[in-house]
Amino acid sequence: MAQIGFIGLGQMGAPMASNLLKAGHQLAVFDVSPAAVNALVAQGAQAAGSPAQAAEGAEFVITMLPNGDLVREVLFGEQGVCDGLSASALVIDMSTIHPLQTDRLIADMNQRGFSLMDAPVGRTSDHAIAGTLLILAGGTGEQVERATPLLMAMGSELINAGGPGMGIRVKLINNYMSIALNALSAEATVLCEALGLSFDVALKVMSGTPAGKGHFTTTWPNKVLKGDLSPAFMIDLAHKDLGIALDVANQLHVAMPMGAASREVYSQARASGRGRQDWSAILEQVRAVSGRANKQ
Ligand code: NAD
Repeated sequence: MAQIGFIGLGQMGAPMASNLLKAGHQLAVFDVSPAAVNALVAQGAQAAGSPAQAAEGAEFVITMLPNGDLVREVLFGEQGVCDGLSASALVIDMSTIHPLQTDRLIADMNQRGFSLMDAPVGRTSDHAIAGTLLILAGGTGEQVERATPLLMAMGSELINAGGPGMGIRVKLINNYMSIALNALSAEATVLCEALGLSFDVALKVMSGTPAGKGHFTTTWPNKVLKGDLSPAFMIDLAHKDLGIALDVANQLHVAMPMGAASREVYSQARASGRGRQDWSAILEQVRAVSGRANKQ
């Protein structure tokens, strides 16, 4: 069982620390909120008076803080983690922060002779309580292996993201896509309501199509991801259908900014001569306008 310093005992950090205690680890906890510290002390943790104190004698220090500036302050500030940390300890930042800040934290820690890996989490505070978080582990293979018993006390699934800083990168991509999809889903739902269509019916239909399942596991695998752009469903036809939806929404005064932006992407694809390609070729179109090497 390990001696762990745990810093940041909020909605996520408190239940995560609690699950580490339940797994038999020894915790020294720090938070700027004394009430948050007391709640963990009542469960068997030791109170630390500073990040430095939480780090003293620890094999691992976990940070679960609101943003990257606070992580930096907690590590390098006055009475920060680095003031108490031993060179053999591993710091695991589980906060969601900017990937370039993560890169800088890793470099700055290395420069001082310390180690830090990123291991942000997916899912919600309910999962943090249940110990069923999705852990997205960055770090070297050795760091991930060393941290795995701890990480699996807080989560039910661990994905090795492929190297230092890659955990926070995959977290960013996942959040970007699900956050944008939330707005698109809201547009579709409001259009559904304006058309007088039963939401249950729409839900039933879309749960079985790329609309609800996403493209990564439906339309892309056998087409663009294999380099086959012969049309199963043509970009020209997708552009036409999107235009009809936007026209209907316009008549019903439904705002569709996500749909309007998408139509521009399809229009650009047609203007680039992709009208008769499969709609999954939108990936190649976005690569092209982003100046990324096209596969096709
Ligand atoms: P929170 O605001 O509930 O908790 C943050 C904790 O950090 C608070 O207890 C606060 O007092 C403490 N804190 C702030 N500054 C501090 C400092 N200088 N020193 C010590 N403690 C300090 O936030 P949360 O929901 O627990 O989220 C934590 C991180 O997890 C964030 O990066 C968030 O984006 C990420 N996350 C949250 C969720 C979620 O569903 N809430 C899910 C996945 C990831």
